[in-house]
Amino acid sequence: MQEFVKDRARQEIFKLKPYTPGKPIDEVKRELGLQNIIKLASNENPLGPAPRAIEAISNMLTEIHLYPDANCFNLKKALSSYHDVPTTGILIGNGSDELLKLLAETFLSSGDQIIVGQPTFSEYEFTALIMGAECIEVPLKDFTHDLPAMLDAITPKTKMIIICNPNNPTGTIVNRMQIKEFMSKLPPDILVVFDEAYYEYVESPEYSTGLEYLAQGRNVIVLRTFSKIYGLAALRIGYGLTSTEIAQAVERVMEPFNVNSPAQIGAVAALQDQEHVKRSRELNKQGKQYLYNEFKRMGLTYVPTEANFIFMDTGVDGREVFNRLLKLGVIVRTGDIFGLPTFIRVTVGTAEENQRFTTSLEKVLKDLK
Ligand SMILES: *Cc1c(COP(=O)(O)O)cnc(C)c1O
Repeated sequence: MQEFVKDRARQEIFKLKPYTPGKPIDEVKRELGLQNIIKLASNENPLGPAPRAIEAISNMLTEIHLYPDANCFNLKKALSSYHDVPTTGILIGNGSDELLKLLAETFLSSGDQIIVGQPTFSEYEFTALIMGAECIEVPLKDFTHDLPAMLDAITPKTKMIIICNPNNPTGTIVNRMQIKEFMSKLPPDILVVFDEAYYEYVESPEYSTGLEYLAQGRNVIVLRTFSKIYGLAALRIGYGLTSTEIAQAVERVMEPFNVNSPAQIGAVAALQDQEHVKRSRELNKQGKQYLYNEFKRMGLTYVPTEANFIFMDTGVDGREVFNRLLKLGVIVRTGDIFGLPTFIRVTVGTAEENQRFTTSLEKVLKDLK
């Protein structure tokens, strides 16, 4: 490493591990010279963006010479009535990723600790480390957040606990009773972040959102996104629902024009397009069932999911499976980045994509045995 950076940069940055994104389709085309590629690696909506959002964005493109509304007035109004919460407690971010980073910038200093599950979404650790805070990882139990163990991990340095519900990459949820028990024992001065990026896909009646605790006046923030079921990942827009007090603090560290206007307008239209949400949920439900049946037929184990992806055990080296699937034009995610080297994570696609995936997987596993 060059001396300049080594001497002058903040030492915290050297602890950061680069994020491993899902491999983009164009990259696979370039590297492997393939044409017909399906991406089941980033939990995107296989039906595409909400049609109403496409229309609304197409109609506003002549306005993109103007700065966006720094307050996201229309979107906050729409979310306020959709969720029946006051606009003052709504934060809009450049993806919910940005909100995670802003929460870290607002609440974390060097020496503080946050508590997360292991494995879970890697952004949590990233945002803590940037601020010089420590990320305490509590192993999942049966692929599910172990809330009692997370409570046991609390120290006087704990500032924040992040619960990814449903959890990425396992697709599991913590249920209403588990959350209730957890919240009743949690010291009130620790902020709880409920990352509910896959909320709209949940089927279990045992599920409960963190919004209940917000309504009770607890120090919580619920994160949601337009990247997943609403199909707007490229626009980068997500939101947080919290108290007015917490929202005002986070807004202090926010850039004035963090969310672009196509994203704001697209999100309002997408929220109105609940037909698209319903269709997407239904497709996911059918896709899940198809994949479960195929995995059973092939004698493979998987973690039952409440989201739009499945974490499954290939029984062999997951990275090898990943590479071989890639050569057949199917992009998935390896489990090794989550600490489970025989696993892969696959997004539920269209019926056709799911079939292509299972046919390819069967071929790859046969070749490997
Ligand atoms: C995809 C995802 C997000 C959303 O990210 P955006 O920045 O809103 O695109 C947040 N949390 C988890 C767990 C995710 O998987």
